[in-house]
Amino acid sequence: MQKNVIVMGRLSPTQRAELEQHFQVAELTKPLDLTQPDVHSMLSNAHGLIGSGMQVTTTLLDAAPALEVIATISVGYDNIPVDELTKRGIMLCNTPDVLTETTADTGFALIMATARRVVELAEWIKEGHWQTSIGPDLFGSDVHGKTLGMVGFGRIGQAVARRGALGFGMRILYSNASPKPALEQELGAQRCELHELLADADFVCVTVPLTAETEHLIGVTELAHMKPSAILVNIARGKVIDEKALIEALEQGVIKAAGLDVFAQEPLSSESPLPRMANVVALPHIGSATHETRDAMAQRAVDNTRLALQGKRPISLVNEEVWR
Ligand code: NAP
Repeated sequence: MQKNVIVMGRLSPTQRAELEQHFQVAELTKPLDLTQPDVHSMLSNAHGLIGSGMQVTTTLLDAAPALEVIATISVGYDNIPVDELTKRGIMLCNTPDVLTETTADTGFALIMATARRVVELAEWIKEGHWQTSIGPDLFGSDVHGKTLGMVGFGRIGQAVARRGALGFGMRILYSNASPKPALEQELGAQRCELHELLADADFVCVTVPLTAETEHLIGVTELAHMKPSAILVNIARGKVIDEKALIEALEQGVIKAAGLDVFAQEPLSSESPLPRMANVVALPHIGSATHETRDAMAQRAVDNTRLALQGKRPISLVNEEVWR
């Protein structure tokens, strides 16, 4: 009997065909809403589930008793209750590594765009304001030679830091759960406490995963530690920063600017002032959104699912305990 796989993300025709060689594949183009009888019946005999941004709940897991693997097309899995999956013997697979460099590029794009006011000034020129040469009121800040503080120093954090240190001659500070001696050696990076990093860095770039510990890691107190000239960049998850406190800090000049790829609520509510603020560059969660990288992420999810359902160890397994 062939196993059943539900696909919620975008796969290329080749990736879909690859899955169909081994499994019955059904595409779900609407949300995982259990009140919909067809969704309920699809889940009731699903062995694999592939998708991104899926809100996985215990009720959903109850409705999917045959489930063996969830393959999220993302590296972050804050939307999935890992312990609950582990308890039920369901493997959780993600897509680390293949998106690291692209997401670091996005981080650096935000550093450059905020410091040099790229979006604000491109809009200004479109609106026909360029009548004489610009004055100091439109000048930006240098990026090269400044201090870059990485909050989180894993795969993506290190890739951003490498760009800063090797490409822009930046001094690197980092705060992270564990020390990274190899990177200290390679980039001259210095580990410090979060409050020290915030007080010293010209650019603070957030790359920690969203967990119970990191939710609102940056709030009123932390923002107050930052220099008024400092710029905050978030390419991790919106809820790592207290968004209300950030808006106030940006309005009151507690910090200079922010570059944000992620928000507490996505898509961003039309009521949020953030995209309209001159000192904010807001992006619609595009960290890994290039053709090449999204394709590589989907391929990794396909590979993870195929291996897991064939009884082989998936490439990127989050809950190792299930395999053991
Ligand atoms: P990673 O390699 O696991 O790095 C995360 C780092 O955060 C690790 O070094 C970890 O420390 C550290 N950390 C975890 N909890 C911490 C805490 N409470 N305090 C201090 N440090 C802590 O993950 P990654 O691949 O770099 O991805 C990081 C996050 O970026 C993902 O979880 C995801 O949410 C986000 N992301 C966003 C996008 C986007 O589109 N904007 C794209 C990809 C990823 P240890 O090294 O000691 O474990």
